[in-house]
Amino acid sequence: MSAHDMTRFVGWFDDPSQTEPVSQPQFPGPCIACLQPMSEEDVRTINLMWADRKHGLSVFYRMHRTCAVSMSDRERNAYDAVVLEAMPSLAGCR
Ligand SMILES: [Zn+2]
Repeated sequence: MSAHDMTRFVGWFDDPSQTEPVSQPQFPGPCIACLQPMSEEDVRTINLMWADRKHGLSVFYRMHRTCAVSMSDRERNAYDAVVLEAMPSLAGCR
C-alpha cells in the first residue's frame, strides 16, 4: 500500500495543542482491515503516539469495532505497526 493510500485510513496531529487533525480520513470510509465501509454504529478509533517525538505527532486510524474484536492482540498490533511505519512519509518527514 502506498503512503498516499494510507491517508484513506490514517489521520494525525503534529502539535499537541491542535484541536483539529492535520489530516484525517474521510468518515465513513473504508475499514483498514476488511476495506468495507464503516458506519457510526460499527467503528473503533485507535490512537497511537508516534515514537518520533520531535515531531510531536499522535496518530489515529479506524476500523470496524466488529473487525477489531475478532482479531487477536497480535493482529491488532500488526495494524499499529503498519500505520506507524507509514507516518514519516505521510507527515513529510523523509
Ligand atoms: Zn472491517
